[in-house]
Amino acid sequence: MSLGFKKKDTVVVISGDERGKRGEILKIFSDKNKAIVAKVNLVKKHVRASREKPGGIQTIEAPLPMAKLQFVCPKCNQAVRLLVQRLEDGSRVRTCRKCREQIL
Ligand SMILES: [Zn+2]
Repeated sequence: MSLGFKKKDTVVVISGDERGKRGEILKIFSDKNKAIVAKVNLVKKHVRASREKPGGIQTIEAPLPMAKLQFVCPKCNQAVRLLVQRLEDGSRVRTCRKCREQIL
């Protein structure tokens, strides 16, 4: 199971070169435990020219291991661990460990 991240969550990088950067999760690769975070871990990619696009260098976000990310609570604006609870009906509820706010 992942750490409970979802698309559009705001996360902060907690280790590596990008430490301290914040961004919104754009995409999650749950099978690889990686996520793409907006404007974080940017890499330059050489794009070959095609009929549709001119070639050149494009900047894209590379996936980051989710272990390097921590959730930022929208309510208390702090990097927190999420409390993930499974309800009887099988759905999951995410709660901030600091302010106890439920996060959708
Ligand atoms: Zn909170």
